[in-house]
Amino acid sequence: ITIGVASETAAGEKRVALTPETCKKLIARGARVRVQRGAGRASSFTDEAYVQAGAELADDAAAALGEADVVLCVQAPEPARLATLHEGSAVVGLLAPQADAARGDAIVARKLLAFPLERLPRTTRAQAMDVLSSQAGMAGYKAVLIAAQLAPRFFPMLTTAAGTIRPSKVLIVGAGVAGLQAVATAKRLGAQVEGFDVRPETREQIESLGGKFLDLGVSAAGEGGYARQLTDEERAEQQRRLGEHLKNIDVIVCTAAVPGRPAPKIITAAMIAGMKPGSVLVDLAAETGGNCELTRPGETVDADGVTVAGPLNLASSGAVHASEMYARNLLNFVSLFVDQGALKYDWNDELLAKTVWPQPPVAAAVAA
Ligand code: NAD
Repeated sequence: ITIGVASETAAGEKRVALTPETCKKLIARGARVRVQRGAGRASSFTDEAYVQAGAELADDAAAALGEADVVLCVQAPEPARLATLHEGSAVVGLLAPQADAARGDAIVARKLLAFPLERLPRTTRAQAMDVLSSQAGMAGYKAVLIAAQLAPRFFPMLTTAAGTIRPSKVLIVGAGVAGLQAVATAKRLGAQVEGFDVRPETREQIESLGGKFLDLGVSAAGEGGYARQLTDEERAEQQRRLGEHLKNIDVIVCTAAVPGRPAPKIITAAMIAGMKPGSVLVDLAAETGGNCELTRPGETVDADGVTVAGPLNLASSGAVHASEMYARNLLNFVSLFVDQGALKYDWNDELLAKTVWPQPPVAAAVAA
C-alpha cells in the first residue's frame, strides 16, 4: 500500500502530518511512503531526512497523492484535490468535513474513508492518537509566551538593587489540556497562577501544577468528561464573581471551549474596562469566536489600555514539536488499519467506526 503526504495549503499552516521518524515506522509496517518535495520545510524537516527514512519524493501534490491508499494531512486538502484521490482511499487529519460543504461533498462523491481525527473518541486507548490533546498542549504553551511578550511586566518576582518586583498575577480560564499546559508554563515563568474551570475535577489538576483554583461557585460537568453549557443564572453568578476578581489580575489566558459550539463568552467588555491599564488577555478560543467579548480573531487590539490578543492556529507556531506529536498520533491511528503492507479496517473497533465520516461503510451496507 502507498501512503501519501502533500504540502499543507491552508494559509499559515506550518505543520506536517509525517515526520522522518513516523515515515520510517510506517515503512516498517510494510507501506510505501510518498512525500511532496518541501512538505516538511515549514516545520524544519528536510527532503533529505525523508529520503533517508525511506520515503520517495514527489514533485507535486498530484504525484504525492495520486497513487495513495492513505493520505495523511494536518488540515483537509482542497475539495479539488480530494476529487483527484482514488476512490475508497483513506484520508486522515483534522478534516472538519462539516465546516465546508464542498469538502464534505467531495469526500462523499469520491467514496473516501475520511477519518477526521477531531471525531476520535477520547478513551484511554485513544490517548496516543489524540491530536486535539497534543496540539492543545502546544497552543496553551504558546499562548502564555505571547502573553508574557505582550505584558509590560515581569512574570517572576525579582529582588534587585532597584527594588523588589512583584510577580504577575496570571489567570487561566478553562483548564482542559491547553489550560493546564498554560498553568504549568506560566508557573515556570514565575508568575502567581490561578485557574478555573466549570469541571470540578480540574481543581486538583490545577493545584498539582502549582496553580491556585479560583472558585467561582459554578460547576457544570457534562457528558463524556466535557463541560455542558451553563444556565443563565449560573453564568450571571460566575460573571459577577469573576468581574470583581479580575480587577487584581495582570494577565488572562482564555482556553474555555464547549465541543461543537461557539466558545463561551466569559470575559465581558465591562470586566476588561475594570482591569488595570497594562493588563493583557490572550484568547486561545479566538478560533471559535473567543471567550472575551472584545476578542477579534487573528488580531491584537488595545481596549483602553488593556491588550486583547486573539491569535489563531497557535499549534502551528510550534511546528517542529507540534508536528512530531501530531505525526506520532497519526502513526498510532493508522496502525489500527495498516499492517504488513495491507489495509484491514475492523469496523467493530470503535476508534475506527466512530471516527470515520460520514459513517462506516459496513454499517452503510447493512442499512442499504
Ligand atoms: P475543550 O478544549 O473542549 O475545553 C477546554 C476547557 O474549557 C474544558 O476543561 C472545559 O471544561 C472548559 N470550559 C468550558 N466552558 C467553560 C466555562 N464556561 N468556564 C470555564 N471553563 C469552561 O477540552 P479539552 O481540553 O479538549 O478536554 C476536555 C477534558 O477531556 C479534559 O479534562 C481532558 O483531560 C479530558 N480528556 C481526556 C482524554 C482521555 O482520557 N483520553 C483525552 C483528552 C482529553
